[in-house]
Amino acid sequence: MKSVSVQCVRSESDPQCAEVVSVHAKIDRQTEAFQRTTNIRCPDGCGACCHSPHVEASVIDVLPLAAELVERGLTESVIDRIHERERRGDSSCVLFHADPADPKQGRCSMYARRPAVCRLFGFAGRLDADGHPQYSGCRIHREVMPAAVAAARRAVRERRIPLPLFSRLAGEVNAIASDSLGRPQPINRALREALQRTALRRRYLAEVDPDDPGSGGHDDNNDRQPPSPHMPPEVAA
Ligand code: SF4
Repeated sequence: MKSVSVQCVRSESDPQCAEVVSVHAKIDRQTEAFQRTTNIRCPDGCGACCHSPHVEASVIDVLPLAAELVERGLTESVIDRIHERERRGDSSCVLFHADPADPKQGRCSMYARRPAVCRLFGFAGRLDADGHPQYSGCRIHREVMPAAVAAARRAVRERRIPLPLFSRLAGEVNAIASDSLGRPQPINRALREALQRTALRRRYLAEVDPDDPGSGGHDDNNDRQPPSPHMPPEVAA
């Protein structure tokens, strides 16, 4: 996790991206503790949640993903793949690599940088109307390890174990943006916007200081600020 933070800061000079990484690390600590206590794990190779056409994330939440993809020179190819999916009416996540032998199985090609919802899914819950924590597990967990899920539900209900909360943790990430960039939307759309903003910002920084594109630059015009990732690309351009 530390290296991701360094990458965000160094290659994008983007403190918001580093903040997102820090909340992602907090989510991981909580979900890993939940997994250790409950013994609930994802079956090897399961990609059921990534197959959903309804995965949503905010632009701010996918900034670490975008930073790495831009750094690797994959901006255009990922955006092209998103367009291709849109033409086919396929809204499943473009970063999922399906196993050719069984398309329901596969892996996330950017697992370490995945957004909050992907870190929380299956290992987090909600508060009910009376403020009591509720855990239900994902459909696959309920099918393959029903006893562990039932035990976890009881333990959560009786408040014997802490439950990571979707709204609190995903909300913490989204609150890093004070505008629409913190609003969840279909993941491919959020990723495309984050890629465009991050690539634009990187180009700007390269112009400001060609010797150190990640530094934020120090040219003669000290009033110039790198475009915020919150600024629409067409405005920042
Ligand atoms: S970002 Fe990764 S974990 Fe999240 S839906 Fe896409 S492929 Fe799955």
